[in-house]
Amino acid sequence: MGNRRYSGLKVLAQGLAGNRGWKPVWRNPDPKPAYDIVIIGGGGHGLSTAYYLARKHGLTNVAVLEKGYLGGGNVGRNTTIVRADYSQPGNSEFYSHSLRLWEGLEAELNYNVMHSQRGVLRLFHSDGQRDGYVRAGNAIVNQGDDAELLGRDALRRMVPYLDYDNARFPIHGALLHRRGGTARHDAVAWGYARGADRRGVDLIQNCGVTGIDIDQGRVRGVQTTRGAIRAKKVGIVVAGRSSQVAAMAGLRLPIESHVLQAFVTEGLKPVIDNVISFGMGHFYISQSDKGGLVFGGDLDFYPSYAQRGNLARQEQVMEAAMTLMPMIGKAGVLRSWGGIMDMTPDGSPIIDSTPVEGLYLNAGWCYGGFKAVPASGDAFAHLLATGRPHEVAQRYRLDRFRAGAVLDEEGSGSQHNLH
Ligand SMILES: Cc1cc2nc3c(=O)[nH]c(=O)nc-3n(C[C@H](O)[C@H](O)[C@H](O)COP(=O)(O)OP(=O)(O)OC[C@H]3O[C@@H](n4cnc5c(N)ncnc54)[C@H](O)[C@@H]3O)c2cc1C
Repeated sequence: MGNRRYSGLKVLAQGLAGNRGWKPVWRNPDPKPAYDIVIIGGGGHGLSTAYYLARKHGLTNVAVLEKGYLGGGNVGRNTTIVRADYSQPGNSEFYSHSLRLWEGLEAELNYNVMHSQRGVLRLFHSDGQRDGYVRAGNAIVNQGDDAELLGRDALRRMVPYLDYDNARFPIHGALLHRRGGTARHDAVAWGYARGADRRGVDLIQNCGVTGIDIDQGRVRGVQTTRGAIRAKKVGIVVAGRSSQVAAMAGLRLPIESHVLQAFVTEGLKPVIDNVISFGMGHFYISQSDKGGLVFGGDLDFYPSYAQRGNLARQEQVMEAAMTLMPMIGKAGVLRSWGGIMDMTPDGSPIIDSTPVEGLYLNAGWCYGGFKAVPASGDAFAHLLATGRPHEVAQRYRLDRFRAGAVLDEEGSGSQHNLH
C-alpha cells in the first residue's frame, strides 16, 4: 500500500514548522458493539494477527483490544534478536518461515523496521558443546537456514575483544547464523498497527478485557473497561497475561509467568557488529543503531506479573558480561527494565483453538517471541479465518502437554524452572 504522507519536502517543511502538523498514523476509534473477530492484546502478535487477517483473508470487521497502549508490552521491551536457528521439528519450520517473512517485512509494511541481518554468534567453550552445536547446525541447514561453524581463530578475527583465554570459560569457537540479527522492536508494532488500521481494523487502546462471555460452550464476546463487545470469534494474544485472561474463560493453561530483564548502556561508537551469545551462562548482547549496548540474561525465576526485575539477577548479568568481554566494564548502564514471559514447560508456543467454541489461543512465547511476530500473526490469522492450523504451526497444539508430544526446545524436560 503506497504511502504518500511522507516526502523529503514534507519533512523539511514540518521541521521548519516545529513538527506540529503531522497527523496520527492510526485512528483512535471507540469500540463498536460487535465484531466478527476480537483480538485481546495489542502487542506484536496481536497486531500482526490483525494485519494478516485483513491483508490475507480480507477480514476487516476486527478489533484489537489493548489494555494499555500499543507496543507497551514485551514487543517494546525485548532485546530484538531475530533468528531461525531452532533445531526441533515443529519449531524449525515455523521460525524458518518467520525469518523469510522478516526478510520481506519492510516492503510488505512499507515501514522501516530496521531489520539488520548482522549475524548471530553462539559461542562454545568445550568439545562437548561444540559437538552439540554441530548437531544443531546440521539440523538448521537441513531446514534450509544457515549455520557455519567457526573455530577460535576465525572467531577471534571477527570479534577480537572477547576474553578468549579466560581460565574458567575459554572460548573455543562459535556457531554463526549469518541471516540472524536484530530489528527495531517498536517499529515492528507500529508498522503492523498502521497496516491493520489502514485496512479497517479498529485498534482500541486503554480497553482492558475483564471477562469472556460464553454461552452453551460458545464464545459470545468480551466484557471490557469500555463496555461489552460481542464477537463471533475471540483470540487471546496477551503474552505474560495469558493465564489470567484464559482463566476468564475457565481455562487453566500450562503456563507460568516470569520476569525477564534487559539492560542498555549509554550510546557508544560502533563496537559490536553482531549479536553475541555466551555459551556458559545466559548472556547475550548486541549494539543498537543508537549506539547503546543492549544485553540480557536469564529469567528472574520467581513467578511474577511485575514489569521489573531484582538486583540478584542484575548482578549475575553484569558478572557474565565482565567474564565474556571485560571491556564492557568501562560502559555506563543507562537503564534496565523487565517484561512478563509466558513460559511453557517445553519452551515452545501454543497456537490453537480451545475447548470453548470460537475461542482461540496464541501464547507461550517464553523469552523468544519477538522473532516469531510475523509467522505467529500469519499462522494465527490463518487459524482464526479458516479454522485449520497453518502448515508451519501444526505442532503448536494446546493438548500436547496432556498427550506428552512436547517440543522440548530447551532440553529441560517438563519443568519451567529449568529453562
Ligand atoms: C527483556 C526481554 C528480552 C527479550 N528478548 C527477545 C529477543 O531478543 N528475541 C525474541 O525473539 N524475543 C525476545 N523476548 C520475548 C518477546 O518480547 C515476547 O515473546 C513477545 O513480544 C510476546 O508477544 P507480544 O509482542 O504479543 O507481547 P506483548 O507486547 O506483551 O503484548 C501483549 C499485550 O496484551 C495486553 N494485555 C494483557 N492483558 C490484557 C487484557 N486483559 N486486555 C487487553 N489487553 C491485555 C498487554 O497490555 C500487552 O500489550 C524478550 C522479552 C523481554 C521482556
